[in-house]
Amino acid sequence: MPVNQETQAGQAETRKFVYDFTEGNKDLKDLLGGKGANLAEMTNLGLPVPPGFTITTEACKVYLDSGTEPPALRDEVSRHLDALENRMGKKLGRPDNPLLVSVRSGAKFSMPGMMDTVLNIGLSDESVAGLAEQAGDERFAWDSYRRLIQMFGKTVLGVDGDLFEEALEEAKKGRNAVTDVDLETADLRQLVEDFKAIVLKETGRSFPQEPREQMDLAVRAVFDSWNTDRAKLYRRQERIPGDLGTAVNVCSMVFGNLGPDSGTGVAFTRDPASGHQGVYGDYLQNAQGEDVVAGIRNTVPLADLESLDKKSYDELMQIMETLETHYKDLCDIEFTIERGKLWMLQTRVGKRTAGAAFRIATQLVDQGLIDEAEALQRVNGAQLAQLMFPRFDENATGREGVQRIGRGIAASPGAAVGKAVFDSYTAVKWSRSGEKVILIRRETNPDDLNGMIAAEGILTSRGGKTSHAAVVARGMGKTCVCGAEELEVDTKRRRMTAPGGVVVEEGDIVSIDGSSGKVYVGEVAVVPSPVVEYFEGRMHAGADDADELVQAVHRIMAYADRVRRLRVRANADNAEDAARARRFGAQGIGLCRTEHMFLGERREMVERLILADHDDEREEALGALLPLQKADFVELFESMDGLPVTVRLLDPPLHEFLPDITDLSVRVALAESRHEKHENDLRLLQAVHKLHEQNPMLGLRGVRLGLVIPGLFAMQVRAIAEAAAERRNGKTDPRAEIMIPLVGTVQELEIVREEAEKVIAEVEQATGTDLKLTLGTMIELPRAALTAGQIAEAAEFFSFGTNDLTQTVWGFSRDDVEASFFTAYLEKGIFGVSPFETIDRDGVGSLVRSAVEAGRATRPDLKLGVCGEHGGDPESVHFFHEVGLDYVSCSPFRIPVARLEAGRAAAESQGSDSR
Ligand code: ADP
Ligand code: MG
Ligand code: MG
Repeated sequence: MPVNQETQAGQAETRKFVYDFTEGNKDLKDLLGGKGANLAEMTNLGLPVPPGFTITTEACKVYLDSGTEPPALRDEVSRHLDALENRMGKKLGRPDNPLLVSVRSGAKFSMPGMMDTVLNIGLSDESVAGLAEQAGDERFAWDSYRRLIQMFGKTVLGVDGDLFEEALEEAKKGRNAVTDVDLETADLRQLVEDFKAIVLKETGRSFPQEPREQMDLAVRAVFDSWNTDRAKLYRRQERIPGDLGTAVNVCSMVFGNLGPDSGTGVAFTRDPASGHQGVYGDYLQNAQGEDVVAGIRNTVPLADLESLDKKSYDELMQIMETLETHYKDLCDIEFTIERGKLWMLQTRVGKRTAGAAFRIATQLVDQGLIDEAEALQRVNGAQLAQLMFPRFDENATGREGVQRIGRGIAASPGAAVGKAVFDSYTAVKWSRSGEKVILIRRETNPDDLNGMIAAEGILTSRGGKTSHAAVVARGMGKTCVCGAEELEVDTKRRRMTAPGGVVVEEGDIVSIDGSSGKVYVGEVAVVPSPVVEYFEGRMHAGADDADELVQAVHRIMAYADRVRRLRVRANADNAEDAARARRFGAQGIGLCRTEHMFLGERREMVERLILADHDDEREEALGALLPLQKADFVELFESMDGLPVTVRLLDPPLHEFLPDITDLSVRVALAESRHEKHENDLRLLQAVHKLHEQNPMLGLRGVRLGLVIPGLFAMQVRAIAEAAAERRNGKTDPRAEIMIPLVGTVQELEIVREEAEKVIAEVEQATGTDLKLTLGTMIELPRAALTAGQIAEAAEFFSFGTNDLTQTVWGFSRDDVEASFFTAYLEKGIFGVSPFETIDRDGVGSLVRSAVEAGRATRPDLKLGVCGEHGGDPESVHFFHEVGLDYVSCSPFRIPVARLEAGRAAAESQGSDSR
């Protein structure tokens, strides 16, 4: 241990902890965070970025691990600060000619919940005069100073921000001022005094006057903010690792609050909702920093900047084009204009809606900026899944009980219906008790995160496309309408008033449409998405009026299908599901569960089978089931003609087919008390008792049933074979594969195989056909995976049953654990994600990998697939591609997602092969 610590300390000394903006680039996000890396990239592109430097995530990690900054950091910061001062011809906080800086957090992934940026660092009672002198504007200097104390007080010293807001409101009231720009120098001076008094009262110390102390405290506060509850919650939600740390950017200040020829704004190089190119953004004159997104004053559309300041506008348009071409993607940016001079303060590849992701990817292909393989990396299965959600039925919005009450900005698509709630606490509480809720706020802030997660959708009356609600909702893939200004939200009284006096109280049903921005009271009916209509074949991408989105999806799916190596099959038990799966692009059935064929009116036959004491009785019961099973298979083979259909023989424990034990006991007791006949129920009850198992998951099921219930598997095999023969003689092409579940040793499989082969031969002879049936097994027990080489001797194919394999490898049953300790495990970071959702690569995955190798070593043409739910999970699909399976199988609705991800995996590995 000491050796390790020593080398770590040694490393710490030689490591470089501070990078000038000129030293970094966009590929250094791990080290410099997203903001720092992109500031460096823009600097290197020659764009007007205010000079500055970035303190690395490494420094943050040392601080978080050891509780103090790395010893070398102070000097390194000093050196970079000196260089910055020389370059700017100013000194940090120097009274006569102060340099001011902002201290900005910036992790690898942008994260709400991190410390807010502190602007104007370096201002003090002394240097405020110097700033006034420098700018020739006293009001501005005092406005900047009061902002510093406010931001620093709140974010670094932890003073309740409302105290400052209240003091500001007081000051405005005293002046009859409408907004902060109406305050005059004297008011601002007074406000500075008031703010300083607040700091003293709340923290027991004066606002620090020493500029370097201000800076160091702010840097430390950024480091500390990595571990706030809000940041941790967000990381869990977004699956961001907890040990990345954040970088800190120190950036020389430029001022948007220097009068009407100054201002600040945000922009997108394309519409993040539709992907269309154009001028998208908001601008606010005479303002600093966050004013533009905080909804303090009304912003103007970016296009208006052209008439306000044509030179800056033209330059900005030029820069936006440069950025798009350089990043080859939609970028979002922050900029400030100081007295007619444009400054770039941030850029990054912008978040976008799922629909825009598909459109932008194809648009960029058409512009020649990216190729098809890259286009596949610009979208993902989760986005496709989101596009397949239903939407509101336009025709149903005029129906009784539904009234449109307003329209806001379509910030994040989807159709959400739920009960109105006006605070996050209620949102969480109600959603826990199973209610669907819509969280309604004037605007949201990071404290609303829990409520936003709990809600079906989010509605705000203020803020634009870049407001907190909009950005966070888009990130979560949650429906959001923001800035619905005609709605008056009163959170205190828990109600919202619409024009015309319609009042929505807490608990009333509202519907919000994140694709159009429309808001309704009442429940609006939903209709399928056009993307599903397209997959279903009810809408054609080629049509002239085809939806742009459908066209984009169509093209991307074609790219994916062209490159993917994995085939995609469906888990389907009946002809209807099979037919839908086929429309969605399924290349066969990977799992047909036969237990579903034993339910309904057939239950009675199964009961007879279970109760049978003699061979005769049993054969009779099986004989009755045979034609029914056969008919099912005929239909299934018909709908999948020419494609493989893997039929799994009976798997679940038998008691699942019997009535519930309590119901039965009651029935028997009642019958007894009434002296009625109840012989059958009594026998059933005895059977239930006999079949009762402590751990049914590990009990009499799967191949074990086939081995102890004579004739059961033989009947199923016969049904499959006869159905196949019937289809074949009808000159069609059934391709059945018979799959034996829950095999742990090759001996089990051999016995079943011998019996099955006999039946198949009989049917072939009787019908004069060559059925070409294959026989294989599921690999869903650790022992099967470990002895895969032996099992492959008796199996022509393996299908990894990763649901059961996960249960048996981990030793927990899914039904029991997901509701009990999984949340705790996720919270403690033991899992990043449930192993039932995404395959556990290290454990279950490594068994799959070795079983693939051993199986193929025995039988080179062994066919390999997966039929667990992981078959439709994006990350797992990439894993199955990597280990070399032939196909994945998933539920019909997940098929497009699996196709897309299989394509992405192939394109990705092709890319890395050629590199
Ligand atoms: P966030 O990650 O919340 O966007 P930023 O660090 O980008 O935080 O800063 C918050 C606001 O302050 C943004 O509007 C940004 O443009 C502005 N800002 C940051 N640094 C400066 C600076 N040096 N000069 C002027 N404005 C700045
Ligand atoms: Mg920013
Ligand atoms: Mg299973």
